[in-house]
Parts: sequence; structure tokens; C-alpha cells
Amino acid sequence: MNLDELKVILKENGIVGAGGAGFPTYAKLNSKADVLIMNCAECEPLIRVDRQLIKIYTEEILDTYEMMVQVLGCEKGIIGIKSHYKESIEAIKHKIENYPKLELNILEDVYPAGDEVVLIYETTGRIVPEGAIPITVGAIVVNVETVLNIHNAVVNKKAVVDTYVTITGEVNNPITVKAPIGSKVIDLINLAGGSKIEDYEIIMGGPMTGRLTTLNSYITKTTKALIVLPKEHLVINKRKFDPSIDIKRAMSVCSQCRMCSDLCPRNQLGHVISPHKIMNTLANGLTEDIDTFTSTMLCCECGICEMYACHQGLAPRSLIAEMKLKLREKGIKNPHNNAPINVGRMREYRKIPIDRLIAKLNLTTYNVDANLSPDRLKVKKVEINMRQHIGAPAVPIVKVGDEVYKGNVIGIVDEKNLGAFIHASITGVIVSVSENSIFIEARGDING
Ligand code: SF4
Ligand code: SF4
Repeated sequence: MNLDELKVILKENGIVGAGGAGFPTYAKLNSKADVLIMNCAECEPLIRVDRQLIKIYTEEILDTYEMMVQVLGCEKGIIGIKSHYKESIEAIKHKIENYPKLELNILEDVYPAGDEVVLIYETTGRIVPEGAIPITVGAIVVNVETVLNIHNAVVNKKAVVDTYVTITGEVNNPITVKAPIGSKVIDLINLAGGSKIEDYEIIMGGPMTGRLTTLNSYITKTTKALIVLPKEHLVINKRKFDPSIDIKRAMSVCSQCRMCSDLCPRNQLGHVISPHKIMNTLANGLTEDIDTFTSTMLCCECGICEMYACHQGLAPRSLIAEMKLKLREKGIKNPHNNAPINVGRMREYRKIPIDRLIAKLNLTTYNVDANLSPDRLKVKKVEINMRQHIGAPAVPIVKVGDEVYKGNVIGIVDEKNLGAFIHASITGVIVSVSENSIFIEARGDING
């Protein structure tokens, strides 16, 4: 298989980055890369997907990963995995000698080890320039679940119809499950034995970067976790962001201690972003320093500044994200493109140990196993979003009343646009179609 053939398979089978924002994987693949890095850092607390997939499907994932290294013409593939995923590391060590182009790189148990730019530095020593993409330094990063999806597409001719989700927090039986894309959140929470408490909120994604969701929402290709927490939990309160209040709080109590900048992973890699300066600019209405405003575009929204660093409980990440959005809406492009040669002198000592982060977020009691269920979740209805990836939304090609089988294409993206095809995740009948989503009701042998 050559690279062009692989790209077509990935686009038509709906492969997008399962661990992040859903960037279409075919568009990442580039023959200029000399290293392909597999992200098995899974750095968000409580999520248990990737470490279990690599342990259970070791051979499938490594076979496909080495195939990708060869198709891309890379010198090597590096598996970046955290040191405390001991069983997963053992599983890889047991097989890796069969794959001459692959090597294992054991990472420290710190957050955010899985951030692409951080991972590239930790595994290769290369610093991605400000605002640039990994290929600028000859690297491509793929997530473990994405590689498993590529295996299913290339070897089993199966499109992406499922995603793996950890359901944890205040549930009776924390679990990780393979669920049809478009399953309702309530069906997943019920599978985990339901909530143990009455007043709760649900985070879709990890506690650092996830967002609040509801029981009636639907999961997408990039959903990795559902975390049930008490309504008054610290992590939930941090999600209740109101820019008009948070800016006033910044004006009153930001002490300019600069702890947010000292712990910012992008700042520590030499990028010009300094959240304490951005807070000062915002809080005091300073307008002469345009660079500080535009430096918000270098934020990866990891959340360290507001969830861990700030002793005043301020919200730099949320304010920065708001400002970034406004600049984007105005069509302003990132002007920063420095290529740092050295990282911060103190970087080694400013990493955030994952156990400390979990304790600070008051999540220690929820830091438990959530074993992968052998069964796929069965659901009666799915809502499949047409915007599950970065780029142009998929365009529905089905109509109400059509019968579809699991794996049939129901949404396409044309050749001119970035995007990935969307497929029916269950066998059934189309009951609603709009430009945003398609509903399918199961028929007969549920989800066969
Ligand atoms: S850590 Fe908090 S108080 Fe200190 S500079 Fe940053 S936002 Fe201000
Ligand atoms: S969220 Fe905060 S700590 Fe993370 S990159 Fe952005 S400014 Fe830095």
C-alpha cells in the first residue's frame, strides 16, 4: 500500500484523531515525517481507555503502527507511554522485538504529557515552533485508539462506528465500554450502574479539558470519558465560567505572582505565551501591547493555569480561550512563529506530578480502575453528529425512511474539503435528517 491509498482508506472510513479535537488523520500523514509518535500518555486524570486498548489489542495496534511507519517512510516509530501503566508496558515489551522500527519511550507521570507539543519534546528533544504543527519538526503524532481504528479499516474493512469511553466518578460501577457513536449519555451512565448521588453534573472528557454535558446529549468519535461529580465539586465549579465576573475577579485579586506562567507547559518550552501578562493586560485594560493579546493563540487550553497553578482561584485559561475566540472571529491570524532552541531552565522542576494534580482537584477517591467491558453497548437510538471532526461538516446522503446497516456511509465530505466520512453506528431506520445530525432507530436484532 502507498501513502495515497492509505489516505483514501482513512478518509472514507471516517478516521479522525480519537484522542483530541478530531483532526482527520489522513490530512496529518506526510512523507516528510521521519518519526511517527504513538501517544499512549493519556494524561487526563481518571480516563482509562488507551492503556487498556494497548494492553488488550497489542498485536493489532503494533502491526498497524509499524505498517504506517513503513508507508510514511519514517526512520522509526516511538511509543510514548507513562511509567505507571505497568501492565501496558509489559504487554508492549513482550512483543516489541518483532517490530524492528518501533521503540518504547517511558514518560514521567506528569500532566500534560499527552499534549502533542510536549510529547514531541519529551520523545525526540525537538521543540515545535510557536503556532506550528508537528510536521514542521518532522514528526506526526497518532493516538492509540486512532491506530486501532486504522487497523479495523485497513485489515477488517470496518469504518469507525464505535468509540471507547470511561464512565467514572460518582457511579456505582466505573467501567470502560465500547459504545456506538451517537449513543445517549444516559445509556452509558446506566451501564455504569447509574449515579450514586442525586445532585450531580457530568463532564464529557477529562476533568482538566472536558466540558459539562447532560443526560440527553450524545457521544461522538472523540468522546473518551463521562465523569459524574457532585454539583458543588471543585472541577464542576471551575466549568461555570462567566467572563464578566471572572474579569472583575482578576482585576481585584490577581497578584501577578506569575505562578500560572511558571507552570504553563507552552511557556516552559520557550513559547512567548505568559498567562500572568495576559491577566494583567485584561485586568487593567492595557491596550498598547498587542503581542500579549495575540499570544493567547499559543495556548493549548491544558488548564494548568486555572485548575492547578492559580492560588487565587482565577480563570486564566477560560479568559484566554474567550480572547482567542474573539480574535479568530475577527479573522486575526497568529503572528507568532518563533522557533525556540532551548526550553526554560527550570522546566524539569516545574512538571506537575499526576498524583498531585489528582489530589489538588479533589479527585483521589475517584481514581479507581474502570475495566474494559467485553460487550459493546446496545442502544435503541443514536444521534450521529455531522461535525465530529475539524474541517467541513459531513453532508448527509440518506433520507428519512432509509434502512441502513451498521457501517454504511451516511455522511460524506467532498475531495476539496478537509473532513471524514460518517457511518451508521447501528443497523436500523433513519428517522430524522438535518444538516447537523442524523437519527437512527434500531430495528430487529438490536445493533447487529
Ligand atoms: S497565578 Fe493567578 S494570581 Fe498569580 S499571576 Fe497568575 S492569574 Fe494572577
Ligand atoms: S491553559 Fe494556561 S497553562 Fe495551559 S497552555 Fe494555556 S495559558 Fe498555558
